[in-house]
Amino acid sequence: MNVHAAPTIREPAIGSALLGKVAVVTGSTSGIGLGVAQALARAGARLVINGLGETAEIDRIRRRIAEQYRVDVRYDDSNLMDPAGVARLVTGAVAAFGQVDILVNNAGIQHVAPVEDFPVEKWDAILALNLSAAFHATRHVLGAMKQNGHGRIINVASAHGLVASPFKAAYVAAKHGLIGFTKTVALEAAEFGVTANAICPGYVWTPLVERQIDEQALAHGIARDAVVRDVLLAQQPNKRFAAVEEIGALAAFLASDLGASITGAALPVDGGWTAH
Ligand code: NAD
Repeated sequence: MNVHAAPTIREPAIGSALLGKVAVVTGSTSGIGLGVAQALARAGARLVINGLGETAEIDRIRRRIAEQYRVDVRYDDSNLMDPAGVARLVTGAVAAFGQVDILVNNAGIQHVAPVEDFPVEKWDAILALNLSAAFHATRHVLGAMKQNGHGRIINVASAHGLVASPFKAAYVAAKHGLIGFTKTVALEAAEFGVTANAICPGYVWTPLVERQIDEQALAHGIARDAVVRDVLLAQQPNKRFAAVEEIGALAAFLASDLGASITGAALPVDGGWTAH
């Protein structure tokens, strides 16, 4: 048995708290975004999923969620690196479903390199997707949410929004920025029944992390299993990856009426990492 593995989570029973709501989840063709999309669909939300990838595989994912949870699921292929793509995603969701009740800004990328060697185009890309796309999506939905007197903005930040690690300058800067942005939105929207929160996962077993193992092995000059034990999980006291379902469950709770008084928070789901 792999002691570092994420736990297997059976269908959590969270009821149909989001029945009739419309959710847009960015970067939901894979990993955490897909886990969040499934959790929201399980609670009854209609969905717009988004992300890059192979069309047939994405359509399979879309149909599986729709059939399993009996909700309407659309796919939008907008590239969120481009502000016009972000605008298209929101406009398309409103055209399809009439409104957006829940926005989950999750799409993100990573690059690992020392500051002095950090490729400028990687810095720009990480800031554009991990930070600016959340600003653009939020500014397009917030006015209507305030007018409706209800809305949920959920930003998938990171433990790296609260603390830093070496070699992740752009990612750490973007995630710290995302938490600051979340707090500002929370303050501006609180009186209108709209909440904004950041979820701050530690290591979650997803394709993004799998890719990092090779990059970190190169940066540190060590083997893959040493990266998992001594680099990735070194700061994570519970010594295991989280499952995407653990992030999805928190997002569904924040999106429900029970989450109404939680706003402006940066909530770690990191096995104790940021308690250090
Ligand atoms: P992932 O690589 O599995 O998924 C990323 C998603 O973003 C995919 O659906 C991908 O298609 C989409 N995407 C990438 N570029 C895009 C673009 N230009 N436009 C639109 N969509 C795009 O990654 P993940 O691990 O699930 O990460 C999701 C989020 O969670 C990221 O913001 C990441 O920073 C954050 N996070 C991940 C971990 C972890 O351990 N996996 C920890 C903390 C935070």
